[in-house]
Amino acid sequence: MSITARNITKWYGEQKALDRVSFSVEKGHVTGFLGPNGAGKSTMMKIITGFLPPSSGEVLVNGLEVRNNLLEVRKMIGYLPEHNPLYQEMYVREYLSYVGGIYKLGREKKKRVEEIIGLTGLGPEQHKQIGSLSKGYRQRVGLAQALLHDPDILILDEPTSGLDPNQIVEIRELIRSLGREKTVLLSTHIMQEVEAVCDRVIIIHKGRIIADETEQSLVNLREQQSLCTIHTEFAEAVPVDLLRNLEHVKEVSPAGGHACVLTCDTDIREEIFRLAVEQGLTLKSLSLAGRSLEEVFRELTTE
Ligand code: ADP
Ligand code: MG
Repeated sequence: MSITARNITKWYGEQKALDRVSFSVEKGHVTGFLGPNGAGKSTMMKIITGFLPPSSGEVLVNGLEVRNNLLEVRKMIGYLPEHNPLYQEMYVREYLSYVGGIYKLGREKKKRVEEIIGLTGLGPEQHKQIGSLSKGYRQRVGLAQALLHDPDILILDEPTSGLDPNQIVEIRELIRSLGREKTVLLSTHIMQEVEAVCDRVIIIHKGRIIADETEQSLVNLREQQSLCTIHTEFAEAVPVDLLRNLEHVKEVSPAGGHACVLTCDTDIREEIFRLAVEQGLTLKSLSLAGRSLEEVFRELTTE
């Protein structure tokens, strides 16, 4: 079960929303499509699901080119669109049964609707009108309709947006458990979401992939995170050259006044302290700061 995007470019009139995007996703992963608003995440997902044609390039789902195999591909994919359009006046169970009809589940339908209501925790709400549900439950209905035909691939566009913290935890757990058997691609602009749910990340910014899953996977980002940032402040001018010559120091950047920030591949606070003593300098502060995924992301997305 795989998704392969090859050189996808998408123009909306004069605006280029995707610029030669290529990636592939294999089974057994929850892959995060991470990027700020306007990055092109939803556009890419609409192209994968065949709701929008690319201007150039192609997407293969299990080896089938999407545009020429729309019906086949839609059977393999469950899609939770960004704005999750649901029929407000329909009742939860009635709606799912209606969706089951579209997928021609036949005699299986009743049983399947039952299963999905259980799986997505919709039991207590199944007899309510969709319009009367909380955002969290509406999102579950969206997930339920995406899962109903038991697709091997799930495309979830910002599945936790607008949910409260408890709902977020529940939906993330559900997605993680689904990821054990299915190929899941979810989009998010939230770093913590990637850390919490995904085991792979593709970072997209202004329509281009800026961190490729093979070269700069989440694992790599985590490794980058383990680089130490040390903040120091001296009473005197910063001994930049001496600091630069210390072992494990990658970078010394001035931070205003007599302060500077060191990027090191390990914690060398003791060496800095010793250096200050040897040089007769006064250290006013010396502290270790971790590097968050957020910072890594900001670095990758600012020119
Ligand atoms: P994301 O989901 O990452 O926030 P989108 O794929 O929705 O990004 O949008 C990518 C870019 O394309 C944005 O600049 C957006 O304004 C633009 N865009 C999206 N849909 C349309 C559309 N139907 N017509 C014109 N521009 C669009
Ligand atoms: Mg979007």
